[in-house]
Amino acid sequence: MTNVLNTVVTYAGFWLWKDGLIVIRVEPSWKILTDFLLLFFSMDFLMYLFHFLIHKTMLYQLIHRLHHEATDPKPMDLFILHPVETLSFGGMWLVLLLLLPFNWYAILIYLTVNLVFGLIGHLGMEPLPIRWQDSWVMRGLGSSTFHHDHHRDVDHNFGFYTTIWDILFGTLRK
Ligand SMILES: [Zn+2]
Ligand SMILES: [Zn+2]
Repeated sequence: MTNVLNTVVTYAGFWLWKDGLIVIRVEPSWKILTDFLLLFFSMDFLMYLFHFLIHKTMLYQLIHRLHHEATDPKPMDLFILHPVETLSFGGMWLVLLLLLPFNWYAILIYLTVNLVFGLIGHLGMEPLPIRWQDSWVMRGLGSSTFHHDHHRDVDHNFGFYTTIWDILFGTLRK
C-alpha cells in the first residue's frame, strides 16, 4: 500500500510538472549542491514537525502507532506506514517542489539519500564503529542508533536525517 501511494504521489508530481506548476531545471550547475542541501534540510525540518505532531496528539493512536509496533525495527518497517502518513510525507514533498524550481540532479540525489537514511534508521543494528559516532559529523546525522532509539523511546529523537531539530527543541535522547 505504501509503495502504491508513493507511486500516486509521484504521478501527481508528474501531472503538476506537465501542467507547468512544478518547474524542474535540468542544466548541471552549482545549484545541484545548493538545491540538494535545501531539499535535505527543508524536508528534515518539515518531517520533524509532522513526526512530533503525530506523537503528541491523538494522531498517534490513529495513524502512527502502526509504525511503532516494531520496537526492534528491520528495513521493511520503513514501509510500514499508515496511508495518511505516506500521503502527508508525499504532500510535503510536492509542496516543496511547487514552491521553488529545483535542479533535477539534486532531486535524484535527495531521493536516493532519503531512501538510504530510511533504510539505515531501520537496520536493527549499528553498522558504524562506536568511535565514529563520537565525531561531530556523526552526532549531527540521524544514524541507525538514533532512529532505533526512537522506536525504543517514543518521546525522543523525532528527526530523520539530522539531530539538529531534536537538539534545538530539546527532544534528543541522552
Ligand atoms: Zn521508524
Ligand atoms: Zn515515531
